[in-house]
Amino acid sequence: MMLGLLLARAGVHVTVLEKHADFFRDFRGDTVHPSTLEIVEEMGYLDDFLELPHQKAFLVTGQIGETTLALADFAHLPVTCKFIVFMPQWDFLNFLAGKARPYENFRLELNAEVTGLLTEGERVTGVRIKSPGGERELRADLVVGADGRNSLVRETAGLESIEFGAPMDVLWMRLSRKPTDPSQLFGRIDFGKIFVMIDRGDYWQCALVIRKGAFQDIQSRGIASLHADILQMNPFLSDRVGELKTWDDIKLLTVQVDRLREWCKPGLLCIGDAAHAMSPVAGVGINLAIQDAVAAANILIPAFRNGTGISIETLKKVQERRELPTRVVQRVQLFVQDNIITRVLDRQGRMKPPLAVRALGVFPILRRIPARLMGLGFRREHVAPIAAG
Ligand SMILES: Cc1cc2nc3c(=O)[nH]c(=O)nc-3n(C[C@H](O)[C@H](O)[C@H](O)COP(=O)(O)OP(=O)(O)OC[C@H]3O[C@@H](n4cnc5c(N)ncnc54)[C@H](O)[C@@H]3O)c2cc1C
Repeated sequence: MMLGLLLARAGVHVTVLEKHADFFRDFRGDTVHPSTLEIVEEMGYLDDFLELPHQKAFLVTGQIGETTLALADFAHLPVTCKFIVFMPQWDFLNFLAGKARPYENFRLELNAEVTGLLTEGERVTGVRIKSPGGERELRADLVVGADGRNSLVRETAGLESIEFGAPMDVLWMRLSRKPTDPSQLFGRIDFGKIFVMIDRGDYWQCALVIRKGAFQDIQSRGIASLHADILQMNPFLSDRVGELKTWDDIKLLTVQVDRLREWCKPGLLCIGDAAHAMSPVAGVGINLAIQDAVAAANILIPAFRNGTGISIETLKKVQERRELPTRVVQRVQLFVQDNIITRVLDRQGRMKPPLAVRALGVFPILRRIPARLMGLGFRREHVAPIAAG
C-alpha cells in the first residue's frame, strides 16, 4: 500500500491487488515506529494519521525477575514523534488506501488473488488474478511482490531464500485491561518464560514466547495449564485469565527468519516480508517493509518518469539499498534469539537481570541506544521530493 501510494502520488499508474475482501484480519502486530511516523510526516499526513485511535509509548519497560527496568527511551530521538504508536495494521492500511484513492492513476482491487505470473522469456510481464468475477490477466511494466512471508510471487518466480531458523514461536492473545492496571508494562522475563503485554486501551495484547514447535505439547496439557503459566508471570490477571476459554482464543505465530538471495528478476521486485521475513524480536517487521517501500519508490519513480522501462539494474539498486539494513537487523535478532531467548527458555525458577541490562536502569543515557535501534533502525529512508507529491 505504501509503495502504491508513493507511486500514485508521482503520477505512475499503479494497481494494488489484495486477496482478501478488506484489510481486517487477525492481529499481525500493531507497532508504528518513529521512523515510519517520520515518513508519514514527510508525506504531509501526520496530523490526519494521529487523529486515528491509537496508543503511544514513550518508554519501553521490562521486568526481569523482581526488577522493573526502563529499557528504551525515545525522548532523545531526532524526529518529530518521539514515541511508538500502537495502531491495528488494518487502520494504518485503510488510512493509506484512503490517501491513495483520490489519484485517478491509482486502483486498489480487493478480493483479487494473484495465482501466477505472466512471463515472456525471462521477463515477468504481469500476473494472473482470481477474483469473484472469474480469472483474468493483468499486464504491467513491473510486478512488485509485497505479498508477505508466504509470498506466492517469490515462490512462483523461483527466487531462492536463505532460511536462518528460530528457536521459538509466539502465542498471541488478548486479555481485558482495567484502569487500575499497571501502565506501559511491556515484557516480563521470569521462571524460564517471556511474556509481553502491550497496552491497547481497553485490552492487553499479550504474547507468550514458547520453544519452537511446543504448541502441541502446551495444548495437550490443557488451557488451565496455560492460565497457570500466565498467572505465574502476572498474578494481577487472575480475574480475567479465564477469558481465554479455548485454543481458538490463542493465535500461533510460527516464527521464521529468512531473506531472498536475489530480490528481483527482470520485470519483478520483492519487498517487505516477501523479500525478508523478520523475527518478532523488537517488532520491526512493519517498519522494514515501509522503509523498503520508500526506497523502492525513490529509485523507481525517476525510472518510470524517463519512460525507458524498468531495467534489472534499477531493480537491483533497491536490493543494494535495503539488503544491508535488513542483514544488520536480522543479525541482531538472531543474536538475541540464540543467546538470550534460548537461554531464558532453558532456565527454571526466578531470574535476575544481567549486568548489561541493569546498566540500562542505572544510566538513562544508555537507554538511547536500544531506542535508536528500535525506533529508527539502521539506514533510514526519506520520501524524496520527487515522491512527495
Ligand atoms: C502475529 C504477528 C505479529 C506481528 N507483530 C509485529 C509487530 O508487533 N511489529 C512489527 O513491526 N511487525 C510485526 N509482525 C510482522 C509484520 O506484520 C510484517 O513484517 C509486515 O506486515 C510485513 O508487511 P508486508 O507488506 O511485507 O506483508 P504483509 O503485511 O504480510 O502483507 C501482505 C499482503 O499481501 C496479501 N497477499 C498475500 N498473498 C496474496 C496473493 N497471492 N494475492 C493478493 N494478495 C496477497 C495479504 O493478504 C496481505 O494483505 C507480526 C506478524 C505476525 C504474523
